[in-house]
Amino acid sequence: MKVPYSYLDRQFADIDAYLEDIRALVESGDFTLGKPVDEFEKSFARLCGLPYAIGVGSGTDALILSLKILGIGPGDEVITTPNTFISTVGAIVMVGARPVFVDNNEEYTIDAAKIEKVITKKTKAILPVHLTGCPADMPTIMKIAHRHKVLVVEDAAQAILASIDGKHMGSWGETACFSLHPLKNLNVWGDGGVIVTRSAQLCRKLKLFRDHGMVTRDEIEMFSHNSRLDSIQAVVGNRLIGEVHSITDKRIANARRFDDAFKGLDDYIKVPPRRVNVKRVYHTYVLRVKDRDKLLAHLIEKGIRAKIHYPIPVHLQKAAKYLGYKRGDFPVCEQDARTILTLPVHQHLTSGEMEYMIDCVKGFYAGRKIKGVKKHAACCRG
Ligand SMILES: *Cc1c(COP(=O)(O)O)cnc(C)c1O
Repeated sequence: MKVPYSYLDRQFADIDAYLEDIRALVESGDFTLGKPVDEFEKSFARLCGLPYAIGVGSGTDALILSLKILGIGPGDEVITTPNTFISTVGAIVMVGARPVFVDNNEEYTIDAAKIEKVITKKTKAILPVHLTGCPADMPTIMKIAHRHKVLVVEDAAQAILASIDGKHMGSWGETACFSLHPLKNLNVWGDGGVIVTRSAQLCRKLKLFRDHGMVTRDEIEMFSHNSRLDSIQAVVGNRLIGEVHSITDKRIANARRFDDAFKGLDDYIKVPPRRVNVKRVYHTYVLRVKDRDKLLAHLIEKGIRAKIHYPIPVHLQKAAKYLGYKRGDFPVCEQDARTILTLPVHQHLTSGEMEYMIDCVKGFYAGRKIKGVKKHAACCRG
């Protein structure tokens, strides 16, 4: 059996309805912003339970525009985690600020207990990442932010519909930034991003900022950027957005099934803690496993496209050299890079594919037990 990681062929198998919508757009000639983008922004804001959403060119642009509009730039420090997709850190650098890292916790998100230690006079913002679709500890992060009068921007690229105590991502920080990249939970046919906010003033500024600072065709309020959500992508998003609840529910159900299946394998597999007041949306399903590289090779050989998110922490990337971090600075993140494994968890997996993945993982460790490896099992813990 083959279990691919990408499900786009399955998701967009019924392409005609989308093409009909795009045909209507082309006939209208409404190619920049316009009705499809308005409609998408309204639906997206409603989905997040927030008043405002602004469609932009990509998730990365959502981060860059948010930081810029909040006045963050050269001389400022922004706190984030090295356990993220490179774009989080790239955005901080692109506005001219300096990224400051804090290690992650057992849930793969920023360890809030370690944030205050790195706050300085230069700290302007905290940029938590809701990695894997698991919300960072926002109540604690917001307390710290208020105490030190720093701003919070959420990287929610992987976390559409995630919430804490029913409060969606974006309800906490000044803004939250989402990506519509083809591999994200709500995806389009190319690049796209969304910023959500509770502030009417920020919404107004961001709408100008993504569109040359133009109030009208002839009036410019501020010099800025061109990063509009493409209208064709908004058309695709408008058709798909109605499905995002069922997409999310399916991912959650798949993750529960994995969690249950791996419960008895504590010596080999460590499922992250699952706090009950937190809704995780499983952009990725990530485990800490013993003999990761061998398990990964085993799964690939069995036709299962397991992956690693991410094999090299950002502080150890060549690009981050000038920041002066070294190996050993973020032990949890570095240990994770050696032990984590991502299994496909997407909404188009069949029950048979789920069962096959579980059997292959269990089969791998069953074989090891027979070879007497069990006595070393404890070294994978903690
Ligand atoms: C995908 C992603 C981004 C960037 O989104 P793009 O739309 O690809 O620019 C940023 N942060 C995280 C955590 C992501 O997963």
